[in-house]
Amino acid sequence: MSFKVDTGLINSGAIKSTDSYQLVIAGGGPAALSAAIYAARYGIKHVVLESWKPGGQAALTAEIENYPGFSSIVGSDLTNAMKKQALEAGAVFSMETVESTQEKDGKILVRTDSAEYSAEYLIIATGAAPATLGVPGEEKYYGRGVSFCATCDAPFFKNKKAIVVGGGDSAVKEALHLTHVVSELGLVHRRDKLRAEPYLAKKLVEHEKVTTYWNSHLTEVVGSDQGVTGVILDTPEGKKHIDTDGVFLYVGTVPATEPFTTLVDLDKKNAVVTRDIVGTSNPRVFAAGDVTNNGFRQVVTAVSEGARAAAAVFDLLENE
Ligand code: NAP
Repeated sequence: MSFKVDTGLINSGAIKSTDSYQLVIAGGGPAALSAAIYAARYGIKHVVLESWKPGGQAALTAEIENYPGFSSIVGSDLTNAMKKQALEAGAVFSMETVESTQEKDGKILVRTDSAEYSAEYLIIATGAAPATLGVPGEEKYYGRGVSFCATCDAPFFKNKKAIVVGGGDSAVKEALHLTHVVSELGLVHRRDKLRAEPYLAKKLVEHEKVTTYWNSHLTEVVGSDQGVTGVILDTPEGKKHIDTDGVFLYVGTVPATEPFTTLVDLDKKNAVVTRDIVGTSNPRVFAAGDVTNNGFRQVVTAVSEGARAAAAVFDLLENE
């Protein structure tokens, strides 16, 4: 399955930011898209505010193999299909980044980089961004060998060497994607056991192109004017310099909750604290997907939470 580039799917022009909405959905990944499909079908007057990265993290995933109905599907094909379905249902999208929110006179005010919206209810489905290590060279060489997206950048590393850091599902899946392209791949993990799905973890560790560095920490990315040339690892055998052309970091995610800090309770990791799965500390605000503290972060749970959040808003509107 394949659809054309996302920008062709934007239903712009219909937005008037001065309008009052029943619902604003913040986000563009599976949770937001599912909420949009349900909101549109319920006839809720809504707008979906998605940032410049439509489809969220799922759209940056090379292959998704555990979404029911597809034994394997490219992440962006799945999210594009969701967006197409949402548009067909009548969902309204605008590509804007939410910058701040507040509650005023019983309404939720949402300020973006280009407009302000007033709504009775808000669904926060802004997902999570890749975490960084904070080591020297990481920021300096970002885009010049350091990447958070193998699906996007793998072609630049054809027949070159790459290092992947992390032991979760993202690290393992994206490392497997890189094995199709690179000549050699190093996997650096801070423990001696991967937390990723065992089936994929085994496939990666046994791959002929892969060298594993267990109980090891990447402490520096080194390079030249041309970009990354290597990394320094802290290993059980001591400090090691490894030559590499690329460094792919998959060391977890940070929930995208900055614009909502005064609106809802967040946990220590800045995820939205939920009640009854999609409720929050604010009765006018719901949350769905990776932005929440719900734990199991899968596309299948994100779409379920998005649907539940839209249904909860519908129930409240019906009973007003
Ligand atoms: P994750 O599961 O949180 O894994 C992050 C990895 O980075 C862990 O292995 C962790 O090590 C390591 N790490 C964290 N901080 C580090 C640091 N400072 N230095 C070195 N290593 C560090 O994150 P994720 O892989 O991005 O996945 C996020 C969520 O999405 C998970 O719930 C995952 O299951 C889900 N996901 C699912 C799929 C799928 O297709 N099923 C695909 C991608 C993601 P430790 O193991 O030692 O903690």
